[in-house]
Amino acid sequence: MPKQTEQLTRITKAEWHAEAERRFGKDPMKWKWICPICKHVQSMQDYKDAGAETENVAFSCVGRWIEGSKEAFKTKGKGPCTYAGGGLFRLNPITVVGEDGKEITAFAFADPDPKPLSLSEGATKDIQDAEDRKVLKSIEPKSEETPPCPTNPPS
Ligand SMILES: [Zn+2]
Repeated sequence: MPKQTEQLTRITKAEWHAEAERRFGKDPMKWKWICPICKHVQSMQDYKDAGAETENVAFSCVGRWIEGSKEAFKTKGKGPCTYAGGGLFRLNPITVVGEDGKEITAFAFADPDPKPLSLSEGATKDIQDAEDRKVLKSIEPKSEETPPCPTNPPS
């Protein structure tokens, strides 16, 4: 068995897209990822503007298509860089499994606004759930006060 990176996340393409929509909205051009090497945040729009092909989005750093970008692994400083997801060092943290079972790797989402639904935020979610239940409880009895049920015993 090949050794896997510990923090590797594996999701289906549908889940990946759903997560992107949840974080950034329906417009794919506004979806954003972070380069694992230079930490440069790049959107689908940035790739498009730089002239990169769709298959490179969230896979190779957008700096590959921008002249004067710093060299991945060699030059320090601000990104974007020339990191290639399919190169010698494969450090993309997410594995995305397509409908055909084909796997690609991807950058992590840039995450300015993680909502409490996020997998890693269990604690926040529990609190939110408890709040939701409280609200439900205070609403539920009212809707059941007069059920249209013939076997309802007279009180
Ligand atoms: Zn980069």
